[in-house]
Amino acid sequence: MDKPQEKCAVAAIVSRHPVARPLFFSLRTLQHRGQEYAGIATVDERGIHSVRGKGLVHQVVTEDNIDELTGNAGIGHLLYSIKLSKRENIQPVIVKTSEGSMAISHNGIIVNSPDLRNKLREEGHIFFTDTEEEAMVYLITKELHRGKSVTEAIRLAMRKTEGSYALTFIIQDRVFALRDPMGNRPLCLGRLPDGGFMAVSESVAIQVLGAEFLRDVEPGELVELTPDRLISYQLFPETHKAHCFFEWVYFARPDSRIDGIFGYDVRFRIGERLAKDNPVEADLVSPIPDSGRAHAIGYAHGSGIPYLEGLIKNRYVTRTFIMPDRDAQRTSVRLKVNVLDHLVAGKRIILVDDSIVRGTTIREIASLLRRRGAAEVHVRVGSPPLRHPCYLGIDMTTRDEFIAHDRTVEEVEKEIGVDSLAYISPKGLVESIGLPAEQLCLGCIIGEYPLKLPSERMRFQHRVEDYLSE
Ligand code: SF4
Repeated sequence: MDKPQEKCAVAAIVSRHPVARPLFFSLRTLQHRGQEYAGIATVDERGIHSVRGKGLVHQVVTEDNIDELTGNAGIGHLLYSIKLSKRENIQPVIVKTSEGSMAISHNGIIVNSPDLRNKLREEGHIFFTDTEEEAMVYLITKELHRGKSVTEAIRLAMRKTEGSYALTFIIQDRVFALRDPMGNRPLCLGRLPDGGFMAVSESVAIQVLGAEFLRDVEPGELVELTPDRLISYQLFPETHKAHCFFEWVYFARPDSRIDGIFGYDVRFRIGERLAKDNPVEADLVSPIPDSGRAHAIGYAHGSGIPYLEGLIKNRYVTRTFIMPDRDAQRTSVRLKVNVLDHLVAGKRIILVDDSIVRGTTIREIASLLRRRGAAEVHVRVGSPPLRHPCYLGIDMTTRDEFIAHDRTVEEVEKEIGVDSLAYISPKGLVESIGLPAEQLCLGCIIGEYPLKLPSERMRFQHRVEDYLSE
């Protein structure tokens, strides 16, 4: 895929009724956040029960095994495309400890996890998985062993970690949700219609269950879910918010509300802003389906140019295999999108998408449109040029994978073969989200990060206005 990839979704539900099915439906709703592995763990008086495996959630949790997931409390997880070396690594990770069995689901990344694992190994812990989640469980267990309460054990353990996390846990039959002090990964709370509570990565899963959206989990807040109430512990002071801007631009469903703001609204405003800042004469505005749709509608609204869908997506082709040559890449793009020739022939088209990573898909689509008779192809992009890796859990790990890394906008325009190319400016992006820049992570566009990383710059080494003026 020529898109940044989110790696996970998490969910937790506690109710007076069995939670396997509501967890299943929550994960089905959040399937866009991870399609490679899925898992649910529930707990009752007999212990923790789990069903985990490779595939979409309905391929893993089926009518044949869902009844194994007994209990009125549980957590769930979806993982994107990392290849796992062993089955035990599939989340929720379940670990038997001297303090009882625990289950943990994690969205994010612990950047000092290799150090933590090494230290724990030196202390004699034997790891059964290759995961950072198992390290978190051992850190919590150590504190429980010293007689700390569960919430204090979580605080002391997580204080040793650096990175991003939205976590759901089962510890000693209790279910918790925790968000990192930056609020980098999303996590929100809902009240179920027939009693009980849920914590999930995106609000759309709350709506789909007919539950009431309550609020986002605060950065640094631990929430215990019980059938009757939510118990909140502010474990860490919110040091500096750094919400991932990509949640609004691409990762989250447009109908999800992240930290009080709908993805759809942000995308629409980005489109309007692109139309204002980067106008071009054209006959129609068309999205790259589906990710560019709300941006394109905003562009059409802002420019007064008609909105038409000149490209139709095959929803059942979800992955681009590694294609060895240009011909094979063309076939792959044609499998994913087809052109409505009679709409585009002879027309000047503005194509709108949310972001460009490698540039391979947009290049093929532009070339396809020309071959089908488009007179001009202009591209407008809903995020500024991606030039720097993400260290906080998104699958963009090296600078080399970005077409814009060592190229100017004009050079990228030439490389992808379009008549004009323009990206939303960092200022336009921040204003379209509607939060202060100081509350956002913009690492992959500005190369400055909200936490200390070897050989990278901390934000904000420049004044915020300096890179917003771009
Ligand atoms: S570096 Fe980019 S993708 Fe990663 S968390 Fe920050 S804004 Fe999100």
